[in-house]
Amino acid sequence: MSYLAKNYNRKKISFKYGKGSYLYSSNNKKYLDFVQGIAVNSLGHAHPKLVQTINKQSKKLWHVSNAFQIPEGEKLAKKLCKKTFADYVMFQNSGAEATEAAIKVARKYFYSIGKPHKNRILCVKNSFHGRTLAAIYASGSRKMTEGFGPKVTGFDHFVFGDHKSLKNKITKNTAAIMVETIMGEGGIKVIPDWCLKELRKLCNKKKILLILDEVQCGISRTGNFFAFENSKIKPDIVPIAKGIGGGFPIGAVLMTKKAAKGINSFGSHGSTFGGNPLAMAVGNTVMDIVSSKKFLKKVKDLSKHFLKNLNIIKNEYPDIIKSIRGKGFLIGIQLYKDQSLFIKKLIDNQLLTIRASENVIRLLPPLNVKKNELDQSLKIIKKVCEELK
Ligand SMILES: *Cc1c(COP(=O)(O)O)cnc(C)c1O
Repeated sequence: MSYLAKNYNRKKISFKYGKGSYLYSSNNKKYLDFVQGIAVNSLGHAHPKLVQTINKQSKKLWHVSNAFQIPEGEKLAKKLCKKTFADYVMFQNSGAEATEAAIKVARKYFYSIGKPHKNRILCVKNSFHGRTLAAIYASGSRKMTEGFGPKVTGFDHFVFGDHKSLKNKITKNTAAIMVETIMGEGGIKVIPDWCLKELRKLCNKKKILLILDEVQCGISRTGNFFAFENSKIKPDIVPIAKGIGGGFPIGAVLMTKKAAKGINSFGSHGSTFGGNPLAMAVGNTVMDIVSSKKFLKKVKDLSKHFLKNLNIIKNEYPDIIKSIRGKGFLIGIQLYKDQSLFIKKLIDNQLLTIRASENVIRLLPPLNVKKNELDQSLKIIKKVCEELK
């Protein structure tokens, strides 16, 4: 009998410890972990530098109120701004909080310039921005919102890739367009660079803000610090979370000076835990490692090798694999059929992966994965294709 609520359909497997790309289960099996807490453990399990950081900081200071200065947070915010488009950072504890805060930033901006009627957020139908009340209605998914009414209003939706409907849905009340640069839960759907450019132009023309949700695809996962970087555009607001804490819960909103105009006033927003010294110490260490040029180059090179070989497998089993999607180490194998059996067989072969919409199996190796570990996973994927042929 479990006293945990039954809101998850958990696999019957638990782990004693992890090291790097591997997890060790209670029944003494070694698993190659390409879930990594859903793109959270960006440096794998028990990374020595993160262990050292948390040990050291835990003896000094865990938590103080945001009523006081927090130097560790100042440091991380500065690093994030120096590395990216952003001028200001506001720390939270999770992705949903970060996306909600992004919405608040956008609304408060228009309020602060005397246009409070501009408060609606235009999102992609069946996207994923988290599980709070506002975030589920932003995501526009029937399954996520069912039974949780009354509806949180203020969100409009367009279908991914339907540019005509996107343009038609912008009204005089629209404050911002919010999209995932790469849809994660939605099935690893990448917004191409030319689309991002057009999106930026459209937002400029309509004088609305562009929010890019990089909670899953950001923090070096694609081989760039942000997934939108190749397009050369500058968003106004970017919520982040998952990867930045390396396993410690951290969320944040990054924003330009202009977008921060409204939220930059005392008392406008707050969080008890957000940005506490323990979280910030860990975030600083993750940031130092994953934002270096050398590290990013390695992610690019190894993920290219991985993608190339996944495509070779796809071509060998064209009746099973429909497409290989994604960028860097945010990869989806799309099957023709439901992916549950495939995922189960991967687990039987000691490779952990996770599902996404549209029959997609998500592969999320740690960003510091080794080439031989990627090759090991390729072997297992090929073996399962052969079994299911
Ligand atoms: C995971 C995710 C969120 C929500 O993050 P939580 O930490 O679970 O609240 C929001 N947006 C995207 C794109 C995500 O992948």
